[in-house]
Amino acid sequence: MSARDIIRLPGTGMYARRNFVTSWRAAGSPPLVSAGRLYLEQKRLFDGWRAGLPGFNPADDPDDETQRLAHVRFVAGDLANPARDAAACERAGLVRPYAYEPWHVELPGDPRRFNLVRSLPTSEKRRRGGGMTAQYYRRASDGKIGRFADGVKVFGTQEDYQHHRFAVTEFVKKNPHLKGSIAVPPLDADPKNFVNLSDHDWALQIAVHGGVY
Ligand SMILES: [Zn+2]
Repeated sequence: MSARDIIRLPGTGMYARRNFVTSWRAAGSPPLVSAGRLYLEQKRLFDGWRAGLPGFNPADDPDDETQRLAHVRFVAGDLANPARDAAACERAGLVRPYAYEPWHVELPGDPRRFNLVRSLPTSEKRRRGGGMTAQYYRRASDGKIGRFADGVKVFGTQEDYQHHRFAVTEFVKKNPHLKGSIAVPPLDADPKNFVNLSDHDWALQIAVHGGVY
């Protein structure tokens, strides 16, 4: 076991190095919109931007290791509620190096002392299911909404879902370059916005996505 190990952030489908996770937990495990980002995902963002594809904004080149690339080195996270949670993160020893990205927290010091991450540890790959994009389903019997990705998050109340939806929507507004890689939760007022599942299909999808976290 080492501080550099890549582990899951408990209660999420995201990953980071153990020393980042320790500080994040000391800060009260604040909700994150993203954390560790594999090399290939960064390359997809960079290539999309370089090719001038719609929806892609400037992104760092993961093949230029002089860049900081803190997410790709798995020592950074983006807060869903920076106004509420940034101070606790700083008290827990994380830093915010970019004034123009108040949501971005990372380990102090030069992130280049950590390697770029090209794949998750073998023990985590099975759970993660290959980096699938989140999909939102609604259970027809009681209207509960779930986020199905690397593991399943079921929202206990409509309000829980609306908080989640607001946080993701605001985050994508501020990070237009991530638009293609983050699934925006649909408006919950209309059940037609969702794939509605029977209890049986809901249980099946939970099994396929590795269980509820
Ligand atoms: Zn960030």
